[in-house]
Amino acid sequence: AEVTRFAPSPTGKLHIGGLYTAAVSRALAHQSDGVHLLRVEDTDQARLVEGAAQSFVHLLEAFGLGPDEGGAELGDGGTEPAGGGTEPAGAGTELAAGDSVADGEATDPADGRWGPYLQSRRRTVYLSYIADLVRRGLAYPCFCGKDALARHAEEQRASRSPLGYYGKWAPCRVLDPGTAAARAGAGEPYVIRFRCPDEFPGRIRFQDRIRGSMVMQDNGNDVVLLKSSELVRPLPTYHLSHVVDDHLMRVTLVVRGEEWLPSTPLHLQLHRALGFEPPQYAHLAPLMKAEGSSRRKLSKRKDPEASVGYYLSAGYPPAAVQHYLRGLANARLMDGPTALVLAAQVRIEEMRPTGPLLDLPKLQSISREFIAGLATGELLGQLTRWAAEYDEELHAALREDPELARRAVAVAQDRGGGPARKDLARWSDFREKYGFFFPRFLGPAPAPGDERFGPLPADLTRRVAADFAHHYRHEDDPAAWLAQLRDLALRHGFAPDTPTWRRTPAAYAGPPRHVANVVRVCLTGSSRSPDLFTVAHALGEAEVRRRLVLGE
Ligand code: GLU
Repeated sequence: AEVTRFAPSPTGKLHIGGLYTAAVSRALAHQSDGVHLLRVEDTDQARLVEGAAQSFVHLLEAFGLGPDEGGAELGDGGTEPAGGGTEPAGAGTELAAGDSVADGEATDPADGRWGPYLQSRRRTVYLSYIADLVRRGLAYPCFCGKDALARHAEEQRASRSPLGYYGKWAPCRVLDPGTAAARAGAGEPYVIRFRCPDEFPGRIRFQDRIRGSMVMQDNGNDVVLLKSSELVRPLPTYHLSHVVDDHLMRVTLVVRGEEWLPSTPLHLQLHRALGFEPPQYAHLAPLMKAEGSSRRKLSKRKDPEASVGYYLSAGYPPAAVQHYLRGLANARLMDGPTALVLAAQVRIEEMRPTGPLLDLPKLQSISREFIAGLATGELLGQLTRWAAEYDEELHAALREDPELARRAVAVAQDRGGGPARKDLARWSDFREKYGFFFPRFLGPAPAPGDERFGPLPADLTRRVAADFAHHYRHEDDPAAWLAQLRDLALRHGFAPDTPTWRRTPAAYAGPPRHVANVVRVCLTGSSRSPDLFTVAHALGEAEVRRRLVLGE
């Protein structure tokens, strides 16, 4: 059983790449009867965005990707758990000296065994691990200020050495611990750095579950673990906090974006220094977008479909998006029928180190299947819930005349005889294609010269509409219904079988579909519509007659 996690930083909006990571990570846990958790990585307090953590939880839940752990704590608006309030100010000399830190924010047992899942609530946990590293000489306080660091970087550039805090550019590395503690005690600001293992430049080997055997160069840089001097309540950097948490939260498989691949050697070194058994890693390639004949990374700035909000407001059913994202993991294997795609498991051993193409037409076809598979009542329910949030007018229309709404929805997914209609890929398609059922979207009755009637002369249009209204009867049988249209055409000089046949010189020379078009435009407001019989049948005799009255 794998324990996996999704660990976003609440520094902005959730992107589709994040949702993809969550979907793959969660599927891998659940397929192995494991656990998937959500952890919010908010230790970089300067970059926090208000409300982002809660919005992640809501979005994950909206897409059916809620975690097994962490969601309840994070979704409640961020109330601080009991015990989190009192706080010793600053770390003082304790960390510089490697003393353990007073436990000012002990974990509330109500958070469960593995929480809390918001990193800013786990401060003292991190600090005690950092103190331990310092005590063992594996981390050390560094007093180099901005200016000194900039000077070192300048020298390194000049001598074409790679940038980093190491070697002769790392004076604090060799400070005597007693001296360091005394300087910290005197109030000199410092950070805590991880002592890059001495075998630098060494090679780090590990297995990536997607990329296979990796050999990476040790990056030769004593990274900062704690920016102690900047804050009254110092929080560690991501590198330290996520390593500690992956260990304490018994994560077995880290699924994350490939942008973290270069940091993985450091993370492995940290696991080793802390005495932890490291998890396995699977670094996901980013989602791609087709551009001409090539591909590029999906861009947060340029591509609306990069944002998760896009899928919600366009009205892709979240469950379809979730299935699609999971399927993307093995997109190469997914050319088969949609049903197979929907049922597919994520096969990590089949994943590729090149990013899958985010293919909206494919998503739409999955989404169409999904909507077509819903029972009418369920479809209406989901449509109504979507409209309540994203299309006020449609929502009002659906609520105004529930019986009409039900009939319109039934037409949209007509299963009468043939295969189900698959007209709806997104909820927003409903208003576009079936909005005409509702008077508020149909608009005023068209006048005889209206361009939607095509080339049919105005007087003939008027006669055809009036005549059809006069003779019209409701029919349950499509053939009988169509016979009415044929009779109408005949009465007005159209020949149903030969497109341009003229009965008399005075008669209209156009094809009989122009007759059907009059009826179509009157009933649906457009010369393109779903099957006319189905529409007329759903509208009912009185409403059909009413709609055949033309405007002036
Ligand atoms: N907090 C990191 C991020 O926002 C997570 C990286 C990881 O999964 O280890 O991308």
